[in-house]
Amino acid sequence: MPTTKYIFVTGGVTSSLGKGIISASLAKLLQSRGYRVTIQKLDPYINVDPGTLNPYEHGECYVTEDGAETDLDLGHYERFLNVYTSQSNNVTTGRIYQDVINKERHGDYLGKTVQIIPHITDEIKRRVKLLGTKHRYDFVITEIGGTVGDIESLPYIEALRQFKWEMSGNVLTIHLTLVPYLAATGELKTKPTQHSVKTLLEAGVQPDIIVLRTEHPLTTDVRKKVALFCNVTKEAVIESRNVSTIYEVPLRMQKEKLDETVLQKLGMQIGERPALTPWKQFLKKHYEPKHEVLIGIIGKYVELKDAYKSINESFVHAGAYNNVRVKLKHIQSDNLCEETISEKLKALNGILVAPGFGNRGIEGKVLAVKYARENNIPFLGICLGMQCAVIEFARNVLELEDANSTEMELNCKNPVIDLMAEQKMITDMGGSMRLGGYPCRIVKDSKAHDAYRKNRVVERHRHRYEFNEKYKSLYEKAGMKATGINPDTNLVEIVEIPNHKWFVGVQFHPEYKSTVLNPHPLFIKFVKASLS
Ligand code: GLN
Repeated sequence: MPTTKYIFVTGGVTSSLGKGIISASLAKLLQSRGYRVTIQKLDPYINVDPGTLNPYEHGECYVTEDGAETDLDLGHYERFLNVYTSQSNNVTTGRIYQDVINKERHGDYLGKTVQIIPHITDEIKRRVKLLGTKHRYDFVITEIGGTVGDIESLPYIEALRQFKWEMSGNVLTIHLTLVPYLAATGELKTKPTQHSVKTLLEAGVQPDIIVLRTEHPLTTDVRKKVALFCNVTKEAVIESRNVSTIYEVPLRMQKEKLDETVLQKLGMQIGERPALTPWKQFLKKHYEPKHEVLIGIIGKYVELKDAYKSINESFVHAGAYNNVRVKLKHIQSDNLCEETISEKLKALNGILVAPGFGNRGIEGKVLAVKYARENNIPFLGICLGMQCAVIEFARNVLELEDANSTEMELNCKNPVIDLMAEQKMITDMGGSMRLGGYPCRIVKDSKAHDAYRKNRVVERHRHRYEFNEKYKSLYEKAGMKATGINPDTNLVEIVEIPNHKWFVGVQFHPEYKSTVLNPHPLFIKFVKASLS
C-alpha cells in the first residue's frame, strides 16, 4: 500500500496571508494529477470549535456534511476540491486538550504526569496521521493556523518537528511569508522572511519550500537571497503575487511549479502537467461576463465580508455559470426603516436576506423581505432569512400583526417560527444546534424543483428554530407554499411564493455546498431570475 505523504503549511510575518488558499491550490494541483488529497486545519485557539464564536472574531462558521462547525478555510477546501471535508479536517487546541483531559480522567495515562510533550503533541500527531490512514489519502495537507512565533502555536510546531523526524521522507513543510515592498526605495524586503524562518529553525523545523506573498514580481536576486538565507533551493522559492480572484491562485502556483517541486522533494514521479481545463473555463467566464446584476445581501455583519464568505463565493460560482458579473452590495439591516427602504434597495436586481442569530437587525430584514415581495424582486432567504420571510408573510398577508419567532419574542402570540421540539431541553450552546446534512423532499412544479431537477436533496443545516407546522395550511391558502419537506420529520425546509417572479426561502444553507465546478442550483436560478 502506498504511504500517505504529509505536507504542513505554516505562516510567518503576519496573519491573513492566505495559507488556506495556498493549501487549497496545491491540493487542487495534486488532485488534478490523479492523487487523493485532503486538507486539514489546525486552529490554535481554545474554543472546541468555532461554532460559539461571534463572526466578528473569526468570520463565518462553516458547516460540513457530517455536522461539524468549522473554520471558514474548510469552505475553501471544498470549493476548490469539490469533495467533502468532515469533523476530522478541523482540529482546535480546545478539542486536543479536551481529549487529553478526558483520557486522563479515564485513567488512560496509567499514573504518568500528563504534559504538553509528549501527550498534547502525540494527540496532535495522532489526529493528523489518522486522517491519512483512515481514508487512504495520498496527501494530507495540514495548515497550521496562526503565525510562527505565537505562543499558542508552539505545540503544533513541536508536533510538526517530531512528525518530520519520525516519518522522514514522507513529510514536507511549506512556509508562507510576506515580502513587503518599500515604495521609498522601490525594493522588496526579505528580512522579515529571514527572521520568520529563523524562528522556525529555533523550533527545529527547516522549511522545504518558501512561498512569498508579494505585491510585485520577485526578482532573481530576491529569490536567490531567500534561498541562501533560508537554506532552500532556488526552485523552492515560490512567488505568490496578489491576484484579483482567489481562483487564479492554482494557476499561478502551477506556473511557479509548486506541485512539481513538492513531488520532486518527496521523491515522487512528476508526470504530465495537468491541463486544468474546467477550472480555466470557469475563470474565463468569470473574467469575461456578458451581463451584470446587483444583488443586495441584507445582514448584520456587513463591515466584515468574511462573515458571509460562502454566500459571496456562491455568487462567484453561479455568476460565472450564467455569464454574469454579480456585484454584491452588503446592506446593514439595522439601518433599514420604512422611510428609507425604497431608497436603499431600489437599485437592486435581487435581494438575499442572510442567516443570523438574535434580535439585532431583525426588523430591517423583515422590511427587506416585504420590499422584495411587494415589488416582485427576486428573493432568496437563507435560514434566518427564510424565517424572516415567514414572519413578514404572517404579519402583512395573513394579518397576524403580532407574528414573530420565539427566538426574538419568547411569549409572542403567533409564534410562526418556534424552537424545535428536540431543542427545548438543550442548555449547552456548543455543537447543540440542528447541524449538517439532512434530506429534503422537493415538491414538483415548484421553483425549487425547477432548480434542483430532483425529488430529493441533502442540504446542510445550522439552526434551532423552525417553521411552525400549525400555521402551514394558513400559509398555503394565502399563497406561500412549502415546497421542501424533511421526509423523516415533516419539517418545512423550503417556502416559496408561486405567483412571485422568484421568491424562495430555505431553512438550510445552500451556500455551504456551492463549488467552482458545481455551483449551487438555487444560486444559479436566483442569479438568473435577477437578470431577467
Ligand atoms: N437563529 C435562527 C435559528 O437558530 C437562524 C439560524 C441561522 O440563520 N443559521 O433557527
